[in-house]
Amino acid sequence: MSSTPTGTPQTRTAENVRPLALLGGIPAFAEPLHVGRPNIGSRQRLHERLDEIIDRRWLTNDGPLVQEFEQRLSDWIGVRHAIAMCNGTIGLEIMIRAAGLQGEVIVPSFTFVATVHALMWQEIQPVFCDIDPVTHSLDPERIEELITPKTTGILAVHTWGRPAEVERLQAIADRHGLTLLFDAAHAIGCSRGGRMVGGFGAAECFSFHATKVLNCFEGGAVTTDDDRLAERIRFMRNFGFAGKDRVEYLGSNGKMNEMSAAMGLTSMDSLTEFIATNRRHWELYRDRLEALPGLSVFEHDSNEHHNYHYVVVEVDAQQAGLSRDEIVRMLEVENVLARRYFYPGSHRMQPYRSLQPQAYRVLPHTEALCQSVLTLPTGTAVTTEAIERICERIGTALQEADAVRARLVESAADRTV
Ligand SMILES: *Cc1c(COP(=O)(O)O)cnc(C)c1O
Repeated sequence: MSSTPTGTPQTRTAENVRPLALLGGIPAFAEPLHVGRPNIGSRQRLHERLDEIIDRRWLTNDGPLVQEFEQRLSDWIGVRHAIAMCNGTIGLEIMIRAAGLQGEVIVPSFTFVATVHALMWQEIQPVFCDIDPVTHSLDPERIEELITPKTTGILAVHTWGRPAEVERLQAIADRHGLTLLFDAAHAIGCSRGGRMVGGFGAAECFSFHATKVLNCFEGGAVTTDDDRLAERIRFMRNFGFAGKDRVEYLGSNGKMNEMSAAMGLTSMDSLTEFIATNRRHWELYRDRLEALPGLSVFEHDSNEHHNYHYVVVEVDAQQAGLSRDEIVRMLEVENVLARRYFYPGSHRMQPYRSLQPQAYRVLPHTEALCQSVLTLPTGTAVTTEAIERICERIGTALQEADAVRARLVESAADRTV
C-alpha cells in the first residue's frame, strides 16, 4: 500500500534519506497539500439530489432537503431542534442574539476569530478568558474572576472537537445567572459522557463549511432543546417573519439553500467513513510523531465518539531542536501547508488588538499555545503514504536541526535584500 518504508525515520540509514527540499532536495510533493481539503461523499447521490431540486423548482426557503437535513441532524444528536443556517458565523450571530446576550460575554481568544467577531458584530464586548493547556478549551478556573455586573453569558468552544468542560461551565453559568452557549464548529459527531455535542448549554452552533468534517459547501446549524429559543432562532433566520406579512422580531437572512442541504445530506451518508479514515490517519500521525523528540499529538478520549478531523501537534522547541515556525517553514518548501491555528490569537487580531491591548496579560496559556501548535493535512483527500512521507520529512528535519535552522536564517536574510 505504501511505497515508503514503515520504520520510524530515526531507524533509517543516512543513504536512504532524501535531502530536505529546504536543503536542496526535491519537494516531497509536487502539488501543495492543504489542511481542510473537503471530504466528498457519493457523487451520484449528490447529482440525484441536485436533479430533484431542479425538478421541484424549490431552491431555498425551508425546502424539503433542508427539512430532511434538520431532521436527521436532530435525530442523530438527540436534541429537539436543529435549525440549519447559511453558515456557522451567521448561526453564531443569530444564536447569540436570540439568546438575549448583551453587555459582556466571556469567550476564549484561542479560537477561530469568527467566534469573537460574532459577539463584536452586535456590539457585545468579548471578554477574553484563558484556556486549559491540556484541553485547549476555556479554563473553568479562570472564568469567575472575569464576571462583572455587565456579563450576560459564556460562549465556549469545543476546540478541535474535544468537548469543553460542559458540567463545570454550566455550574458557573447557573451560579451567576449567565447563559451558556457553545461554538461547536469543530465538534459534529463528538460526545461527552456518551451524550452527543449539540445538546449542551442553552444552544450550540455547528459549522458545515467546506473545510469541516461534514460540509454543505457553506452551512451551519444551531441546535437546542429549548422550544422558545428555537422558535426565536427560526424567526430571526427568516427576517423575523412569524407568518405571512407578520414580522415579530428583528431578523436577518440565515437560511440554508437546497443545494447546500443536498451536499450536507450526501456528506452525512458517508460521515462514518470520513471519520474512520480520519481516525486511521490520526493514529498513524500519533504513532510516527510521538516517536520523535519534543512532539505531541493532541489527544482524544477513546471511550467517546470523536471525528478526528484535526491533527494538532504541539512542538516543544527545546526538546525537538526546531521551533513550530521552523517546522512549518521547512514543510512549506516540501509543499506541505501546515497551519498555525489559531495564531496569533484573536486578542492579537483587529479590532481586539487596539481595543484591548492589555488582554495578553491574562492569557499566558493562549499565548504559549499560539507559538507551539501546528495542524497537519488529513481527511479523505490525503493518503496514508502521504502521511508517512510528511512524518518522515519532519523526522529528518529534527535530525538535521542545525542545518535546517541555519538555512532558514540565511533565507530570511535573503528575503530582506
Ligand atoms: C469554521 C469556524 C467558524 C465559522 O464557521 P463558518 O461556517 O465558516 O462561518 C466558527 N468558529 C469556529 C471555531 C470555526 O472553526
